[in-house]
Amino acid sequence: MPELPEVETVRLQLRQKVRGKTIACVEVFHPKTVAHDRAIGRKLKGLTIADIDRVGKLLIVSFQDSAHHLLAHLKMTGQFLYVDKGKVSGGGHTLSPIDTTLPSKHTRVAFHLEGGSTLYFNDMRLFGYTKLASPREVEEARAAFGPEPISDTFDVEAFVRGAKKRRTPIKAILLDQSFIAGLGNIYVDEALFRAGVRPTSLGTSLSLPRLRLVAVAARDVLSESIAVGGTTFQHFADTGGEKGNFSDYLRVFGKQNTPCAVCGTNIVKIRCAGRGTHYCPKCQKP
Ligand SMILES: [Zn+2]
Repeated sequence: MPELPEVETVRLQLRQKVRGKTIACVEVFHPKTVAHDRAIGRKLKGLTIADIDRVGKLLIVSFQDSAHHLLAHLKMTGQFLYVDKGKVSGGGHTLSPIDTTLPSKHTRVAFHLEGGSTLYFNDMRLFGYTKLASPREVEEARAAFGPEPISDTFDVEAFVRGAKKRRTPIKAILLDQSFIAGLGNIYVDEALFRAGVRPTSLGTSLSLPRLRLVAVAARDVLSESIAVGGTTFQHFADTGGEKGNFSDYLRVFGKQNTPCAVCGTNIVKIRCAGRGTHYCPKCQKP
């Protein structure tokens, strides 16, 4: 599943390609992906893309001189692929060769742009979407997300005060997108390893300095992952076939039954906050 660093990488890459381009027509291959909006093509035709913004893992496309917005979510298997003169770029869910012969059997929508390029949305499992939204719906979507640790305005002390009041495992606190946005399962486990905090520890039981360490670790793992293009993400064409390689930096996620890189104790895997959770029983204290 694409996590925030992959979605941010997709956003930055697409934004560079499509900003200022005008939609010539929209081809819908599966109505579910556009929320069964039969008029989406008519509404978007002739609109020029102003920007692509993001809140959590939700992409928000805005248009020049229009109240329309397009909300796009990759969910489990979504991919955005931009094709210009036969050259493909983009990403999201891990790409295989079948995805890049476009449209593919997993293509759900194609946004044909003036000048001959096309933005394709592929989604094997059909949980993702690209749907029109009003400014009010966009505001509601934004309001559902808490602050992001990588934002310039992220307030560590506000995080610490809020987390200290919560009688739930720190893992669940970090996954709660309305409290702190952008951390998926991989990054929560990695952040807690860095902070030396056991995922099952309750917010109320952790000291303020330890909660500060968690906040800083959360910011660091996300920004480092974005710097290398994400974990599961592959992008190519533009970047000469490089793979997002934060997976090389993972210390606990997926490392169960292998020795901790710091102390040699075997990493364990448990269930916490409904998710597979990995930690070092020695380095991460309750
Ligand atoms: Zn260890």
